[in-house]
Formats: sequence, C-alpha cells, structure tokens
Amino acid sequence: MSELWTAPTNCRVEGCTQQAVLHINHYGDGVILGTEHLCASHGEWYMRLSEFSWHVPGGVPKSEKEPVQAVLFRSVFLDGQTTMAMILKEKAGDRVFILPGDYYTSAAVGQSLQESERPGSHTAMGMLLKASGTSLLRVTVDSCDDSGHYRTSVVIQTEKGIQNTLDLRPSDALALSHVCRVPFLVNPSLLWDAR
Ligand SMILES: [Zn+2]
Repeated sequence: MSELWTAPTNCRVEGCTQQAVLHINHYGDGVILGTEHLCASHGEWYMRLSEFSWHVPGGVPKSEKEPVQAVLFRSVFLDGQTTMAMILKEKAGDRVFILPGDYYTSAAVGQSLQESERPGSHTAMGMLLKASGTSLLRVTVDSCDDSGHYRTSVVIQTEKGIQNTLDLRPSDALALSHVCRVPFLVNPSLLWDAR
C-alpha cells in the first residue's frame, strides 16, 4: 500500500517549505513516469481542476460530434479527499477528461498498465477476449447520466462478425482499451478546457 496517505511530505519544489497535499502520478505512453508531491500553491492547476470538476457532471447527453481520443496523463490524490482523479488529456489538443474514482480503482488501472509477470484483472479480461476469438473494436465514453455515471460503450466482435456493445465502468474500459491497444474515445462535450 502506498505511503501517500500516512506520511506527510514536503512540497518537492525547490525552496518550498509547505506540506505537500497533492500526490501526482505522471503517465506517458501508458506507463508511470514518476510521482510528484506538491503544495496547494505549486499545484494550483490541480486545485483548480478539483474545484470545478473533481466530481462527475450530471446529465451530459451524448454529443452529435465525433468522439476524440484521450490518453491517461496524471492520476491525482488530494489529501483530505476520499475520491481521487485520473486526468486524461486529449491526444490532439489540450482539453482534459476527468475520471473521478477511489484509490482502489486508480490502483487497479495503474496495475493493469504496468508490465508484470502475472496478469492483472484487465490483462486477464483481454486474454479472455482473445482466447474466445473476440476482439475489442471500440471504447467510447458517450455521456453522463443524471446520477453522475459515465455511460461507456465497449464494442466487441466475435470471429463470426457478431458485435455486442457493453456498458462498462469507464475506468475498466480505459484499462481494457490499453491492454487491447484500442484508442480510448471521449464525447467532446465531456472534456474540460482547463488551461
Ligand atoms: Zn510548494
């Protein structure tokens, strides 16, 4: 288990003596590049994100526009919050998609992105699909319902060409898309311009 919850850490910005309240994993090409610890002032961008979008916005309908590809960018823990956020960045732009979750969801996704000797849950899901001659075609976060749940359609296809669409949790869909090397698409109306 991570030390993040128990051990107070100072902000890692040189010369800063404030306590770090933000603990940020950086991702690139699906792997963790490193962890950053920041105080609220040096992590101002994340604090701003947490204020306006740490929770899922309710009732965003499916967009008429084409979904865009988003890639995992950061996962962020903020001290004193029970939820954390996975921040995905639009591949061809600067908008972000915020996926709130608990620590365990984030840890499960993180584990699935790492190469490991024994398969994690999402790798196992990918192995089962493959072994049954089924391929993952498409993963799209379509909309957000009134209770704040993202509707995520996961389209699979059997060898005979029969397609099925499943509604999975976006975090599972994200990890599975990574395992199967299929782009993770998001309805553009669910993206935030957070610059
Ligand atoms: Zn600082």
